[in-house]
Amino acid sequence: MFWVICALKQNPIAKPGISAGAAENKHGTEPKRMRSLNRLNDFFYLFFPGICMACNSPLQHGEQVICTSCGYYLPLHNSHLNADNAVSRLFWGRIDLVSAAAYYSFQKGSHVQRLMHQLKYKGRKEVGTEIGKRFGAELKQTQLFRQAELIIPVPLHARKLKKRGYNQSDFFAHGLSSKMGIGVDSVSLVRETITETQTRKSRFERWKNVESKFRLIDDTAVRGKHILLVDDVVTTGATLEACARVLLGTEGTKVSIAAMAVAVY
Ligand SMILES: [Zn+2]
Repeated sequence: MFWVICALKQNPIAKPGISAGAAENKHGTEPKRMRSLNRLNDFFYLFFPGICMACNSPLQHGEQVICTSCGYYLPLHNSHLNADNAVSRLFWGRIDLVSAAAYYSFQKGSHVQRLMHQLKYKGRKEVGTEIGKRFGAELKQTQLFRQAELIIPVPLHARKLKKRGYNQSDFFAHGLSSKMGIGVDSVSLVRETITETQTRKSRFERWKNVESKFRLIDDTAVRGKHILLVDDVVTTGATLEACARVLLGTEGTKVSIAAMAVAVY
């Protein structure tokens, strides 16, 4: 029984690989199966309300993952509202993007850091899906982001993926997808593991190599498309830049970036 409840508390829509993405149909209504699952979920939440992944307080009926108070007070970055913003400026002179934005401002010791920690290290994948849904609803209202045609999450190293069991950015991607109505491709862009020769290089050289080791295994999936490249927290932007370079190497491809949060100091 306990495991059934735990399973129901995990968001059921996120799946790896390529998908059509939208959990809602074209009329914006949920399929019958989703409605039944939601009712069942509500029923269990009456008895097992769970806690807010940001502030740790008990969730009230109808609240999921993030409480109403945190939904109101967590620091939104609002960079999607202005093409000239702190996230897009990170990439100026480095790479040509259509637009770039992050949902939250991230500071050490903050509730946003706690959210990210729950997602990356505590197996709370529903945090990624929830932030994706919230940001996706906002991005769909903007001129630049609603032109995006395909979502690609920054891939993890195979070794890290095996250890963690999931890529946190996949769940963010599927949350965005459910609100923006565009698909997710988490297989065409891959992050290559460190090779035998690389292990003999110095630590700095190895770091440089790791940062740039991305490859498209199928460029027809992205050719001529406006790609929304997504990641968890943007700090220097080096990883996103390396991924975007690979995507932009394909004819006619455009890239925008959406992150769950951006580090602010
Ligand atoms: Zn809260």
